[in-house]
Amino acid sequence: MPMAGCHISRGKFIVTGGNGIMKKYVLGALGTAALCYSIVPTYGGKLLHRLRRPEPDDTLYLTFDDGPDPVYTPQLLDLLSEYGIHASFFVVAQSAQRNPGLIARMKREGHLIGLHSLQHKNGMLQPPISACRDFVHAACIMQQLGAPAFYYRAPWGHWNLACLAELYSYGMKPVLWDVMAQDWRGDTTAKEIAQKLRRRTCGGSILCLHDGRGKNDAPARTIAALHDVLPDWLDAGFRFDTVDHYEH
Ligand SMILES: [Zn+2]
Repeated sequence: MPMAGCHISRGKFIVTGGNGIMKKYVLGALGTAALCYSIVPTYGGKLLHRLRRPEPDDTLYLTFDDGPDPVYTPQLLDLLSEYGIHASFFVVAQSAQRNPGLIARMKREGHLIGLHSLQHKNGMLQPPISACRDFVHAACIMQQLGAPAFYYRAPWGHWNLACLAELYSYGMKPVLWDVMAQDWRGDTTAKEIAQKLRRRTCGGSILCLHDGRGKNDAPARTIAALHDVLPDWLDAGFRFDTVDHYEH
C-alpha cells in the first residue's frame, strides 16, 4: 500500500522535474528570441548612434513626434515659420491620414516629414507579421498623402528586426535622438522643459519633442518652452536644419 503513495510521489517528481526543464528551455528560447528580435536592435542602435555622433557644430535638429495634431501642430508650425526654422516631423500615419491639410502645410513650408509608425504601437511587443503589415500600411498612407517617408523613428525608440527589415527594404533610414526633455509628461511645466532643453542641448544635437499625444495638453507646454528657448538659441548663433542633413 505505501508503494502506491510512493509511486504517485515519484511520478509527480518526475513530471515536475520534466516540466521544470521544459520551462527553462522555453523561457531560455523566448529570452534569446526577444533579445535578438528587439532588445539588441533597440539598445544596440542607441549605442551605435552615440558612438557615431558627429563632431559638434552650430546646427540643431528639431524633431517632433506623435503628430500631426489638429490643435497643436498648427501652433507649432506658426512658431517655426515666425523664426524661419525648418524641422523634422515624425508623424503617426493614421493621424496624418486624418489631417492631410497639415501634412500638405508641412511640405509647403519646407519641413521634413518622416514616419513614426502606423498607430504608435510598441515595437518591442509587436509580433513580426503584425509589425511588417503595419509598416507597409503606414508607408502606403504616406505615399497616398504625397509625402513618401525616407526617414523613420520607432515609437519610444523600440525597434524590432521585422520593422528594420521593412525599413531597409523601402530604402528608409532610422533616426534616433540626442536630447529628450520628457515634454510628454503630464506633471512637467514649460519652464522645466525649457531648462532641460538649455542644459542638455549642444551643437549638432537631434532634439526629440512632441506635437501630439502626451498628457494634460503636453504639446502646449512644449510650444511654450520653444517660445522661450528658440530666440536665445538663435542669438547664440545656432542654426536649424532637417535630419536629412544630419551626417553620421
Ligand atoms: Zn512617439
